[in-house]
Amino acid sequence: MSLQLGGHVSIRDGYLGAAKSALRMGAGAFQFFPKNPRSLKLKSFDSRDAESCRSFCSAQGLISVAHTPYPSNLAVSSETEPMLFRQVVDSLRNDLEIAEACGSIGIVVHFGTFKQGSPLQGYQNIIQCINNVLSDWKGSAKLLIENQAGDHGSMGMTLEELVQVRKLCDHQQHIGFCLDTCHAFASGMWQGATDKKFADKAEQLGYWDGLCVVHLNDSKYPVSSRKDRHARVGQGYIGEEGFRRLLQMDAIRKSPLIMESETGKDGTYREDLERVRRWVEA
Ligand SMILES: [Zn+2]
Repeated sequence: MSLQLGGHVSIRDGYLGAAKSALRMGAGAFQFFPKNPRSLKLKSFDSRDAESCRSFCSAQGLISVAHTPYPSNLAVSSETEPMLFRQVVDSLRNDLEIAEACGSIGIVVHFGTFKQGSPLQGYQNIIQCINNVLSDWKGSAKLLIENQAGDHGSMGMTLEELVQVRKLCDHQQHIGFCLDTCHAFASGMWQGATDKKFADKAEQLGYWDGLCVVHLNDSKYPVSSRKDRHARVGQGYIGEEGFRRLLQMDAIRKSPLIMESETGKDGTYREDLERVRRWVEA
């Protein structure tokens, strides 16, 4: 079985340009920022470029996924920060529309951070935000919730939270998960090569049913460090053995696998893609 393997690429040359650069490095999947990653400002995107990206990917069998801007905090309060709440919702809706036009499977968004009160309020805010974004969404691009490392508070570090939040939202069919392996290792959710529980727990909780994409990052810090520092695959504390074990899980191997680490000397993930393919095929 061939892996849908790739990395995060730039949209310097547009959405079609991003797809072409992914194909050039030998990838079968890629991730891109639909707009400026540092801002929630809406983008009136070039729909012809998006359409070209969509048809190019479908002709080449390329899978794409969009990553929302970093300030997209799902846990923002609609009561204490109504303006920001509206901005986050509108921005995520804008990302969904771009992803849909580009033929992407969805938009990755971090679980969210909330420090002003009880975690329960934080979870309620996340659910309210997602319900607003998806209230009349008719597209096939999904909102993909990514697990967190624990470097900005304690939310989003467990499988239970991810599964529960999805269950409690109104439009489960439009919601999936993005598993970041560096964050999972940093949070202690997954222990790497020595882990005995993660796969069974994911199965029991129904996490695999929602899994749509994997961020295949190694970690520059040891397990449970709560540090979000990505290393190139096989070159950090997860290491080759950790990834070999992970890639034995069906749900992981069948998902698009996206790297978000430093690239090789040629500025691409080519070496890393080849390394991972060797692990799985050998
Ligand atoms: Zn990630």
